[in-house]
Amino acid sequence: MEEKSYVLNQEISPQMTDDAKMELYLYSLRKMAENNLESNRAFMTGLYNLRAFQYKAAEEMLENPELRFALIVMDIANFKSVNEFCGRTMGDELLKCIAGAFKEHSGEHVVLSHFRADIFAMLTPFQKDSDLIEKIKRIEQRIEAFQIPCKVLPSFGICVATDSKMPVSLMRDYATMAMKTIKGKFYADYAFFSDEMRQTMLMEKQIENDMVEALKTGQFRLFIQPKVNMKSGEIIGGEALVRWHHPVNGIIGPGQFIPVLEKNGFIINVDIHVWNEVFRFIGNRLQEGKKVVPISINISRLHVYDSSFRENLVKMKEEYHVPPKLVPLELTESGFLEAAEVMYENLKYLKTQGFTLSMDDFGTGYSTMTMLKNQPVDEIKIDKGFMDDIQNDRSRIVVKNTIHMLKELDMDVIVEGVEDKEQQDFLIECGCRKAQGFYYYRPMPVEEFEAILDG
Ligand code: C2E
Ligand code: CA
Ligand code: CA
Repeated sequence: MEEKSYVLNQEISPQMTDDAKMELYLYSLRKMAENNLESNRAFMTGLYNLRAFQYKAAEEMLENPELRFALIVMDIANFKSVNEFCGRTMGDELLKCIAGAFKEHSGEHVVLSHFRADIFAMLTPFQKDSDLIEKIKRIEQRIEAFQIPCKVLPSFGICVATDSKMPVSLMRDYATMAMKTIKGKFYADYAFFSDEMRQTMLMEKQIENDMVEALKTGQFRLFIQPKVNMKSGEIIGGEALVRWHHPVNGIIGPGQFIPVLEKNGFIINVDIHVWNEVFRFIGNRLQEGKKVVPISINISRLHVYDSSFRENLVKMKEEYHVPPKLVPLELTESGFLEAAEVMYENLKYLKTQGFTLSMDDFGTGYSTMTMLKNQPVDEIKIDKGFMDDIQNDRSRIVVKNTIHMLKELDMDVIVEGVEDKEQQDFLIECGCRKAQGFYYYRPMPVEEFEAILDG
């Protein structure tokens, strides 16, 4: 909505020091702001839009410092499909119903808002957390009672103000962040912003601030975890795993920073750096006539959207004169599924170029039998989750039969996360030969890996 501009009447301009005039001036300023607010209402529901909400909410908090305030944000996880399956008219009706459910809570010091589309918010004073939860439950009941052929999944995020001067925009960010942790999940419908989330957010911010410099200055280092033949103990390969040597925070594991880099896309740059290091490493050893084993690289699912993905790999194998068989590509199950058509084309092409494919974390995602039949996969990496409860008889049956099936499908099998002899012996009994796990080696700096190969 367009912002209106108001021209102050010279008669009551602030230069006039007279008390009465000053009061009048302030009064008219306030009126203007209020008029302005009235025009800042969401078209369909009549609730305040974002801008008016921020103004009104800040005012309520500042004027009532003795009250505790919370900001609740609500989003419908599947609103798009509601519109698609039930039609826009029904979608609009649903939004009006939600607005009605929010309006039920209007009262002193309460500010309601319809930010946009399916996002609503409420600033409300409260005493106990359970008061807030009760409000949420009441809204949910109203939504549930709305007659609609598809299930509506509302998620609520709550931020409790630390003091009356806490910026409303920050409270909104925090509430939204809390909401995102449960959005679309069936088992939870609300979440409070917590200190843990604040830490995560700070860490994510720091990662985003530092990542570009880190790549430039070589802080992303190549580690390799050996893969072994369980019977002979011989090293038959390795997997490239990245580590971040942060100048202040020390070594950061990929579990911490990769999800952030996947969110902002920078993982593509880091992956290319890691791949380059792997090709250079193998290329150098080949040139020096030293022993080489295949070192697999991880391909983030994001590469599907990078048009130069496959050319990059082909260029590297040529530049470093490395036979592509020496660099197997590891993709997770979900990686194979993402933009399946494009990915399928890319992978088929890379196979014609001599690369081999390994399906990572097998058994954790949505692998279906059809996928196993149709994807051009050479090797399956069974996830370490399978090893976790191998003492359990039923788990043993699942692992044993999975391995048999994969072998019958003529696929190479490797098991990840082997941590003790008992697991190893069981896998050998199942006919499995290859493994990777702490029982043999942990991921190590590339220099250490070289020393073992040369030793
Ligand atoms: P992943 O590809 O499944 O890699 C295997 C992970 O399991 C590694 O964790 C490895 O250290 C760990 N692991 C291996 N054996 C054992 C074991 O016996 N017990 C236990 N508890 N863990 C074991 P890491 O290095 O922390 O990497 C985590 C994930 O980060 C990787 O999972 C991979 O998805 C991702 N990642 C690592 N490096 C890269 C990279 O360069 N590019 C991309 N795109 N992803 C990477
Ligand atoms: Ca992997
Ligand atoms: Ca894995």
